[in-house]
Amino acid sequence: MNSKNMLKKSPKVVVVGAGIAGVGAAGKLITQGLTDVQIIEASSQPGGRIRASLFGKSAIDEGAQYIHGASMKNPIFQLAKEHGLLWETHDRSGSELSVLTNMQKQLDPDVIKEVKNLASSILRNAHLLADQKGYTQAKSLADVYLEEVKMLLTQWDGDHIDLRRQKQGLLSMFMKWQCVHLATDGLSEVSVHEYEEYKNIDGDDRNFQGLFPTLLQKLLEAIPREKLLLKKPVKQILWNGSFESEDGSMYPVRVVCEDGDHILADHVIFSISLGCLKANGQSLFQPRLPEQKLSAIQSMGFGTMNKIYLEYEAPFWDENTDIIGLVWEEETPLSGQKPNLAEWWKRVPVFHVVRPTERYGHVLVGTISGKEAEFVESLNLQEVASSFTCLFRQFTGRSSLPELKNVFVTKWFSNPYTRGSYSHISINSTGAMIDLLTEPLPQATEGSSSPMLQVLFAGEATHRSYHSTTHGALLSGWREATRLIDHYSTK
Ligand SMILES: Cc1cc2nc3c(=O)[nH]c(=O)nc-3n(C[C@H](O)[C@H](O)[C@H](O)COP(=O)(O)OP(=O)(O)OC[C@H]3O[C@@H](n4cnc5c(N)ncnc54)[C@H](O)[C@@H]3O)c2cc1C
Repeated sequence: MNSKNMLKKSPKVVVVGAGIAGVGAAGKLITQGLTDVQIIEASSQPGGRIRASLFGKSAIDEGAQYIHGASMKNPIFQLAKEHGLLWETHDRSGSELSVLTNMQKQLDPDVIKEVKNLASSILRNAHLLADQKGYTQAKSLADVYLEEVKMLLTQWDGDHIDLRRQKQGLLSMFMKWQCVHLATDGLSEVSVHEYEEYKNIDGDDRNFQGLFPTLLQKLLEAIPREKLLLKKPVKQILWNGSFESEDGSMYPVRVVCEDGDHILADHVIFSISLGCLKANGQSLFQPRLPEQKLSAIQSMGFGTMNKIYLEYEAPFWDENTDIIGLVWEEETPLSGQKPNLAEWWKRVPVFHVVRPTERYGHVLVGTISGKEAEFVESLNLQEVASSFTCLFRQFTGRSSLPELKNVFVTKWFSNPYTRGSYSHISINSTGAMIDLLTEPLPQATEGSSSPMLQVLFAGEATHRSYHSTTHGALLSGWREATRLIDHYSTK
């Protein structure tokens, strides 16, 4: 321990949640000398939204899979490099996107590229466009996107009707894909300021199937096994109290578990998902969370994105294809605004080919968001499989296309310990609310003699610039660990 980290006492820290934020926080505390740490995790395994499951020939990622911003500026990339895990990558930006339509057409790559660039430029610059173009009422990404789409449709008036329909359909496909990235029902739920708050890290988005679970194991190596309690859901955090332990020591926080166990602590780092906080935030804390914090929790955006893995005996796609896009020619972004559970499969904009084939077999993974993503969790796998067999037969025009060998659907919405996938800035929230959620308890008040930093908040939703990502989650855990380390080293 260096002189800055000389500690006056060894405080007891409980970390609730063993996702990458919690594991990152605990690891940093322990390596910096705050060794009295206990992680309490509800599930039977650590990792949270980093999870691998056996499917077909190999383990597939149910949650995180891409490094968003593969450069040394990204702590995930840095760690993966340090641990020699960057063995094999699939660069998404260079991926071969092949788009089919429900009228069995294969779209021209130049048209796809043109529409893709238009769609992403509108969304990335939505807040600037709203200002420049005087869309004074623009609150959501949809408000800007749909205005711009109306203009594009006018510009495309001169195009042949088939081309126009295909471009409209493509815009709709890219809109659904964007909703997948944002884990939302629709762009109308996402603030026009989302991409002003969320910051891209230099570097491509790189696909690393299997990397995150391995990286998590590496992070866990810094934590002695007995410091991680599994299958122990936390029921309530009693804070601002004065609780006596068996040896007569006094603690301000008592963590109550569902199984009746009580654990006393000086500090708690709370890292459960925003979805769980939304569901249980009112009852999880005693005294209740301050009203402003509760209101921020309810207003912030948190939605569902699920993955659907399909395994085939043999591929029906071209061996160079990395992504298969699906365009419904009659659709426009203006028409596809309402959930359509009866035709839930229409919400799957693209399927990625899972590589390498030698490891995974012939596997596609589709992504779906919003109400349809919640709904697909309730279907039986046979139903899901036959929907996609019909869909691909329609899009390829090949009625002989074989049945699926195997199918797997992630269930992030019905998982009681996530209740969805990740966060975004909703139309009812701002970036400032993320800072509000992150403020430790009790809030500093003049003349207060309560021990400080009793409850600290980590997790992806607490990172203003990198919410929704693994790097945001990890940095949030390190941020709260550093807050405690600094607290003791400056005392
Ligand atoms: C489908 C999907 C795809 C994704 N893709 C990517 C990607 O490609 N790249 C990327 O960077 N990010 C991706 N993400 C986001 C990324 O996985 C998350 O941002 C990150 O893993 C969140 O980590 P966390 O520690 O904040 O939360 P979590 O991983 O949710 O950890 C919180 C932990 O708290 C536990 N818990 C909950 N309630 C209790 C309780 N009452 N008591 C005790 N423990 C409790 C949970 O079981 C969980 O283990 C994806 C997420 C999903 C769902």
